Amino acid sequence: MSAPAFARLPHPNPTAEDVRAAAIADPAFGRVFTDHMVSIRYSEGKGWHDAQVMPRGPLLLDPATAVLHYAQEIFEGLKAYRLDDGSMALFRVEANAARFNASARRMAMAELPEELFVAAVREIVAADADWFPQVQGGALYLRPFMYASEVFLGVKPASEYHFLVIASPVGNYFKSGAPAVSLWVSEDYTRAAPGGTGAAKCGGNYAASLIAQQEAIAKGHDQVVFLDAAEHRWIEELGGMNMFFVFEDGSIVTPPLAGTILPGITRDAIITLARDAGLTVREERYAIDQWQADAQSGRLTESFACGTAAVVTPVGKVTRGDASFTIGAGGPGQVTGMLKDKLVDIQRGRAADPHGWVTRL
Ligand SMILES: *Cc1c(COP(=O)(O)O)cnc(C)c1O
Repeated sequence: MSAPAFARLPHPNPTAEDVRAAAIADPAFGRVFTDHMVSIRYSEGKGWHDAQVMPRGPLLLDPATAVLHYAQEIFEGLKAYRLDDGSMALFRVEANAARFNASARRMAMAELPEELFVAAVREIVAADADWFPQVQGGALYLRPFMYASEVFLGVKPASEYHFLVIASPVGNYFKSGAPAVSLWVSEDYTRAAPGGTGAAKCGGNYAASLIAQQEAIAKGHDQVVFLDAAEHRWIEELGGMNMFFVFEDGSIVTPPLAGTILPGITRDAIITLARDAGLTVREERYAIDQWQADAQSGRLTESFACGTAAVVTPVGKVTRGDASFTIGAGGPGQVTGMLKDKLVDIQRGRAADPHGWVTRL
């Protein structure tokens, strides 16, 4: 089946220029949206059809739409960057397309041809290029997602799906703009169990993580860090970011992808860039007790979290129960800063792109 061409339906009444300029001056994460969206429908037998770039607007859902009951939904998150020369680029969009289908398979959903995913992302950026924020660290955050649109209450994989892409101008992810975040170790809740959906980017994982995130905020912390479900001992990841640990000898550890951790594209890029820089990176389990002991002894010098939304974020403080420990001097470390700069320089077209990660638009 050949990929459908996109019908382009420009917004009849786009946001006025002054309103848009104010909206994108310093947007909070995920609050401001552009004028358009991409929509593609799937149904069994017919395949993917009705590809459109259309005015962004509410969806009309029958109350028996499957996703509202059984949460058959997946998403992706990536950014379009403005390069220093004014052109725009995507970072590793093919990896997002591939991961989207890996998530689709786990959730028993229809797969979207990867070239159609990439074409949809290109369409929304072309339609809403005017929405690019001018702020430092700004980007157009893109949110492709797909939900089970069949109207049916029986429990089975749906026979109809709706794929959409929306776009949101973003500045810095963390409101505080703090140089380092503090983490709360969740001992009561886990994010993912072996055999579960931890490696799929599905809304359900987030739904299950919110109570732990709420607890972290209530305890005065920025983010929650999850431990493994079986032993409550091994560090897994944050609600939406992967973790890295930097040691005194310059080596780096990150938890291995064993089915319960989301395979972050930023994670993969950081591993590659660290190895390019001559650092040793081990993908191996790291225990919470060891983290505390190593931070206190000075064997561990830095820790950071990473993901598309927040890029690379240093961890300053960790609390587990009544005990807190500080990482390094509590602020951004040298290796963290070096790796972040390397990544951002490639994303922004300031450095060579030896791995072919950047797609210029
Ligand atoms: C999306 C996500 C990440 C980060 O993935 P990137 O591809 O680097 O943005 C990490 N953990 C979870 C749970 C996620 O959903």
